[in-house]
Amino acid sequence: MKAEIICVGTELLLGNIINTNAKFLSRRLADIGIDVYYQTVVGDNQKRILETTLNALKRADILLFSGGLGPTEDDCTKEVVCKAINRELYLDKQILENINCFFEQRQFPKSNKKQAYVPVNSKVLKNDIGTAPGFYIEEGNKTIILLPGPPTELTLMFDKYVIPKLNFISNFTIKSRVIKTIGIGESSLEEKIIDLIDSQSNPTIATYANNGQVDIRITAKADNADKADVLLNEIEHELDLRIKDYIYSYENESIEEKVFKMLYERKLKIGFCESCTAGLTTSMLASVPGASEVLERSYITYSNLSKIDEVSVRESTLNKYGAVSKETATEMAKGLLKKCSIDIGVSITGIAGPTGGTKNKPVGLVYICLATKDKSFVLEKKFHGNREENRVRSAKAAFNLVRKYLLNLI
Ligand code: ATP
Ligand code: MG
Repeated sequence: MKAEIICVGTELLLGNIINTNAKFLSRRLADIGIDVYYQTVVGDNQKRILETTLNALKRADILLFSGGLGPTEDDCTKEVVCKAINRELYLDKQILENINCFFEQRQFPKSNKKQAYVPVNSKVLKNDIGTAPGFYIEEGNKTIILLPGPPTELTLMFDKYVIPKLNFISNFTIKSRVIKTIGIGESSLEEKIIDLIDSQSNPTIATYANNGQVDIRITAKADNADKADVLLNEIEHELDLRIKDYIYSYENESIEEKVFKMLYERKLKIGFCESCTAGLTTSMLASVPGASEVLERSYITYSNLSKIDEVSVRESTLNKYGAVSKETATEMAKGLLKKCSIDIGVSITGIAGPTGGTKNKPVGLVYICLATKDKSFVLEKKFHGNREENRVRSAKAAFNLVRKYLLNLI
């Protein structure tokens, strides 16, 4: 069973909006075992929508349209699809009534009447949160589904009406899981599991570098969800044996969410003293609901003076070793720990770039120190991204250092 997703909208072609509908539809179709061979994007142009429809009818069994069902002149998906399959449209009184209800006391725009036209012999998919209904049309052995463009309407209607119909016609299930890793680059990670990647076709294993981290997606195809889960569990176990220290989650969560949970479970308080990241690390942790349970306070100590004033870094240390050094990072973290009532103090100091690097201290050099009342650890990292990437990677590396400390890995 092959499907083609056709997203209609000039806005998409112009890059004004992100095609989240295509992503959503592809994911959902994969989940129910329907292969998507093409995702097509076409503007609001009758001739090109017709061409696209005729093409898709040749190469797919299921055509899933998104967008162009609204009331305006350029919304013409339904009319053009009907032209492609020689289907008449008729005015449906019930839909007209529904649109009337939707507008209630407000003036009913004349153009909305267009939405009450229904392809003959089609099933109308009611839109509970908007005016444009969707349609389910069978044409010979082809299935054509038209859904409105607004993502909240499309997703709701897809899950409500389309999934039950399509699950019925597909005969296997595809399930995916994302395994999150940190602290290892994509090529090094791949090296460790390349034999699995190369030899496995079910489940498939794919790695995706993602802003300083690597995600591994494993995807299994089986007769039913339970069998797919068995296959996924097996491969997860194998990956666990090989790269355990780098895997921080099987639950598709961010590193800051993971660290938050670990701190919360252990009832520990943390604080940060941030130089090159200037609050980014704190902000990432604060974006996790409940962060106040673990986050005590943070300082942004960008200048040398602020490092001296706020966390008692010695001037002599700054003069001798520089602001970006193991020694300064250590004094920052220890000073922070002394200053407030926290269990873990983390400092970050580095050169985000693009300027400020030297031969000995290049752009991307970052020191991160974790201090507790009995111990301190300093991590030296060299990142090779742009300014923003280096800052994000520094923050993530800081979270990873906390994770490793809590797991007794350092
Ligand atoms: P409406 O009744 O809102 O006009 P419609 O079916 O005609 O619905 P469009 O006009 O194509 O849909 O799109 C309406 C809005 O939905 C767009 O402005 C955009 O915000 C969003 N949208 C459309 N297509 C997509 C898409 N593929 N991915 C994400 N958002 C989309
Ligand atoms: Mg529209």
